[in-house]
Amino acid sequence: MQKGTIVYLYGESLYINLTNRCPNSCDFCIRNYTDNLGDADNLWLEEEPTADQVVSRIKEEICEKKTKVNEIIFCGYGEPMERLEELIDISKKIRAFTDKPIRINTNGLADLIHKKKTAPLLEGVVDAVSVSLNAPTAEKYFNLCHPEFGPQSFDAILKWTEDVKQYVPDVRMSVVGVIPEEDIQECRRIAEELGVKFRVR
Ligand code: SF4
Repeated sequence: MQKGTIVYLYGESLYINLTNRCPNSCDFCIRNYTDNLGDADNLWLEEEPTADQVVSRIKEEICEKKTKVNEIIFCGYGEPMERLEELIDISKKIRAFTDKPIRINTNGLADLIHKKKTAPLLEGVVDAVSVSLNAPTAEKYFNLCHPEFGPQSFDAILKWTEDVKQYVPDVRMSVVGVIPEEDIQECRRIAEELGVKFRVR
């Protein structure tokens, strides 16, 4: 029996909790405040689920329980791109029984995590990507999100966002609403320059 919730409903979206691993330690991370969200019991995983365990849970929600779902989202309690291979496998398998859009919520650090270009691997795999920006400069990002890759992380996020635009149709950047208004506006400008949508969450 899997300990820790691997698939949960939040609003009308179905969220996939693939991992608790993350190279960041953001000051605002929800993991610092609560262990659950939506209808999840506990998002801290005793062990990471296999791709087939995740597919089977999604199939149960969509095909058996007929849960009303608008979107399927790889999110966390962690960085889903840590498990890139499984994420791709799951997406391909769930396409067989649902046409709901599939999105990844990510910190945009996949190339540094995997030490290779990862955006091309998402072509035809997911419909949307939301990249957490949260700060308008490398220094501010480092001070807020404490990435293990250091200050180079900020430029890597911008580059990954630019890359992924070529392979995924719907790309947006987001920021948390707790940062100063002038930083939000500067992040908006960065997203516009990259030619992607922008959202304050
Ligand atoms: S990138 Fe996301 S999961 Fe990782 S610490 Fe920041 S908010 Fe939490």
